[in-house]
Amino acid sequence: MTAAALLNTVRAHGMRVSSARRNVLDALLNADQPLTAEEIAAGADIASTYRNLDALETIGIVRHVHLGHGPGRYALAMRSGGWATCETCGRSTALEPDALSRIRAAVKEASGFDASFGHFPIVGRCPECI
Ligand SMILES: [Zn+2]
Repeated sequence: MTAAALLNTVRAHGMRVSSARRNVLDALLNADQPLTAEEIAAGADIASTYRNLDALETIGIVRHVHLGHGPGRYALAMRSGGWATCETCGRSTALEPDALSRIRAAVKEASGFDASFGHFPIVGRCPECI
């Protein structure tokens, strides 16, 4: 999804595209990892950054995720179907949709749980740290 498509979604929900809101979306588009609100604010007003993140989460284009200790992080919803976080190096990886469905199917088969990894990640060690 492009910046233009995201901005159209914002407008389609009757929300104004303020420069602060645009900055939040740009920061998330340019990030390959979920960001904290402080990282997204990058010196701008943190309270307004949180309000914008909440508004964008309400219309479904941003999601927050807890990747281990520390504050929650934010990512574009299209990138955050599921995450895996390495407890050794701290790196988080977005799970590919196909991998995510296979993992969820295996968890369901083994435990009956319909697991989701978009809010809390799979935690373990990444291939580089094993
Ligand atoms: Zn690692």
